[in-house]
Amino acid sequence: MVVVMRPGTEKQDIEKLVQRFEKMGLEVGVTNGVGCTILGLVGDTTTVDMDKISIDPHVERVMRVQEPYKKANRKFHPEDTVVDVQGVKIGGGNFNVIAGPCSVESAEQVTGIAKAVKASGAKMLRGGAFKPRTSPYSFQGMGESGLDLLLEAKKATGLPVVSEIMAPRYAELFEEKVDLVQIGARNMQNFDLLKEVGKMSKPILLKRGLANTYEEWIMSAEYIMAAGNENVILCERGVRTFETYTRNTLDLSAIPAVKRMSHLPIIVDPSHAAGMYWMVEPLALAATAIGADGLIIEVHNDPAHAKCDGQQSLTPEKFDALMKKVESLRAWRASCEE
Ligand code: PEP
Ligand code: MN
Repeated sequence: MVVVMRPGTEKQDIEKLVQRFEKMGLEVGVTNGVGCTILGLVGDTTTVDMDKISIDPHVERVMRVQEPYKKANRKFHPEDTVVDVQGVKIGGGNFNVIAGPCSVESAEQVTGIAKAVKASGAKMLRGGAFKPRTSPYSFQGMGESGLDLLLEAKKATGLPVVSEIMAPRYAELFEEKVDLVQIGARNMQNFDLLKEVGKMSKPILLKRGLANTYEEWIMSAEYIMAAGNENVILCERGVRTFETYTRNTLDLSAIPAVKRMSHLPIIVDPSHAAGMYWMVEPLALAATAIGADGLIIEVHNDPAHAKCDGQQSLTPEKFDALMKKVESLRAWRASCEE
């Protein structure tokens, strides 16, 4: 962290600030330039509140040279993190696909889709039981009974299950019934929820917020990690931009950028980014080509009658065709890296 003092600040005022930083356990390098003095703070500055420093009347500017996150930071943890969900690995060269309906609707629906996506190569089953809907009049999900139907589908197929948690009070329920706990885009900065899932033993799938920067997203991962849960998978699902043609704009730059910033695995959700089934395949292939650690794709046996997100859901047949292309692309990527 660098602190630029206001021109003409008295020596004793600089000294007072230096002592304040030293009390915080930081080393301070003082550079006296022409007309202004610069303090270089060395040490763990993650907990230093920049606002409290910039309020000092002798301070002109405060700048961070180091990121405000530590546990999620690639600098302190150069190797890729591999998250293991009941034996299914994601990250560090392990690529896997999660698929299933937006919402669990019935036993036949979810088990049928689970069997189909497994046959096509999916390694985990997704299905919402508690749904964050824009309208209170839309289908809100089956709740706990939806999680039980997911577990039936797991029993029938062996696929670990992914579902979204909406509030801290469900932590115990999800700890018991869900293998990978999803934090949805709308809850990316629900800090109470992040702290709660940070205490869980289950890995977390953290979706990027609708309008959040990479740093804010990684800071949310840091919340979960700081509370004790280091098994976090990030998920790019498109962000809100001026473009209205697509539901969201898939930010493919997030993959190389976030991989440079953090050691956590990053997967892509082309379904919620596109909002249209026919665009899911090209976006999924682009994400695979650019080095995503996996995909999460909505699949429905009867998209026209789906209770949620049918317009962006692939039929099992279309999903199967996509998986064949994903596999060829993965093989091509591997041959390029040889
Ligand atoms: C979902 O995965 O069903 C979902 C609601 O996703 P998001 O939070 O990305 O909108
Ligand atoms: Mn959905």
